[in-house]
Amino acid sequence: MNDCVFCKIIAGEIPANLLEETQHSIAFNDIAPRQPIHVLVVPKAHHRDVAELAFADPAALTDLVQLGSKIAEQLSTGSFRLTFNTGADAGQTVFHAHGHVTSTTPKK
Ligand code: AMP
Ligand code: ZN
Repeated sequence: MNDCVFCKIIAGEIPANLLEETQHSIAFNDIAPRQPIHVLVVPKAHHRDVAELAFADPAALTDLVQLGSKIAEQLSTGSFRLTFNTGADAGQTVFHAHGHVTSTTPKK
């Protein structure tokens, strides 16, 4: 998608602090972290939100959750949140599906 900030990150057109990627997903630090750990997990294919992703490509959603869990395991004590703001009224501001992996308990 032409005007999508996350598609541009995936294409390498704008920088991001990439942590890890799989065939279907990438993980990078949120530019404005609201928790001690705040990572975004993002499907490489453009879908408007997690609901659209779930119906269009369930395997890619599973991959995304697995990547988020793995990152949380690496960076935190293992307790984390994985949240998907879905729709503008729920606070979604970037309309390329993504999960927020957040944790208040970084690994020491
Ligand atoms: P949401 O409000 O759920 O759509 O989340 C969008 C998230 O993307 C916010 O937490 C932003 O801080 C984050 N964000 C926006 N632009 C960038 C960027 N260029 N690199 C990393 N994170 C970004
Ligand atoms: Zn996109």
